[in-house]
Amino acid sequence: MRPVTKYAIRRTGSLFALVAGIVVPVRPAASQAPGTLALKRDVLADGVYLFRAPRALDMWTSTNVVVIINDQDVTVFDSNTRPLTAQMVIAEIRKLTNKPVRTLINSHWHMDHWGGNQAYASAFPGIQILATTQTREFMKRITPRFFETAILTGLQPERAALDTAIRTGKEADGSPLTAEDRRVEEQGIARMVQFAKEISGVPRVLPNLVYVDTLVFWKGGREFRLFSETGDATASTVLYLPKERILVTGDVLVSPEDGKGPPPWTTNSYKITPWLAALRSFSTLDVDVIVPGQGPAMHDKTYLTRTIHLFASIIDQVHAALERGLVTQTEVLAAVNGDSIAVQYAPGTPLPSDFPLWMKFFTNKVYQESRDGGEGP
Ligand SMILES: [Zn+2]
Repeated sequence: MRPVTKYAIRRTGSLFALVAGIVVPVRPAASQAPGTLALKRDVLADGVYLFRAPRALDMWTSTNVVVIINDQDVTVFDSNTRPLTAQMVIAEIRKLTNKPVRTLINSHWHMDHWGGNQAYASAFPGIQILATTQTREFMKRITPRFFETAILTGLQPERAALDTAIRTGKEADGSPLTAEDRRVEEQGIARMVQFAKEISGVPRVLPNLVYVDTLVFWKGGREFRLFSETGDATASTVLYLPKERILVTGDVLVSPEDGKGPPPWTTNSYKITPWLAALRSFSTLDVDVIVPGQGPAMHDKTYLTRTIHLFASIIDQVHAALERGLVTQTEVLAAVNGDSIAVQYAPGTPLPSDFPLWMKFFTNKVYQESRDGGEGP
């Protein structure tokens, strides 16, 4: 659990901000120590590996990449945020096998899932990059410069808050701004500015094979089932390996980096009802392992079931509040409580400082949809 520090109190308390409908990072991971920059590898089944990139390394989120070694070739699900991280995964693949990566799946248009496409295209000429038709369309229109702009916009309140603290010599809570606090915060903002610049220069390699709704293919004896589902982005791809009983969800299901606590972010890029329907459809699948878009692999459906309850409860509460006659987003948010379900994710530990912001974003989205897209007075 992230401790609530002075730093967090002065700001929103979150690692992320919602800018232009997407979630952008506003603070780098706390630690940059060498051990925190290494990929973590899990073996999920024979020939199926999960590579978890820590947020300290991939900067945006802590991204999960699944590598599946087939009879003749390799299939990869998602390609990280930074080309640097993708190159590290490719080096690991080469240690495991000399078979080429022939298929790369991009789960959705958020850049923390496709930033490494160019690295794969260079390392494995002729690679097929697979996504839904809609994902490709979004990727065409939403360029790396969009993500750069969103990150820099998200940083502005951070910069302004620090400038105020420097001017007054005090934090927002009245405690003195120490030289060490200032140094750490200046450094954090500088790293995020540098990161924004880095990703604006990432070459955009678009998917070259697209599908709608569902696609099934076989590689040797292995069956791959792809479904288009709503997650934190519309028309996101989910991968199901029926024989191995593994479900790879992309950001249709995300957990905190350490797996402990409620979902850490939500965006404005989806529709609520189909998102909940997607989660409910997962609960009917025969699975031994669920790989979320971020966080450790799950070996039962506890996290999934809890998230279904959380979403359903908030939706019900927003509807009830509106039916009682509440009108503004502020009124509705005040009438909704997600804490009683959220604390069940990590019993005995306080709710993460991000959670109120998650509630606000999610509740507002439900509010808008409940009123046919209305933003509210
Ligand atoms: Zn996403």
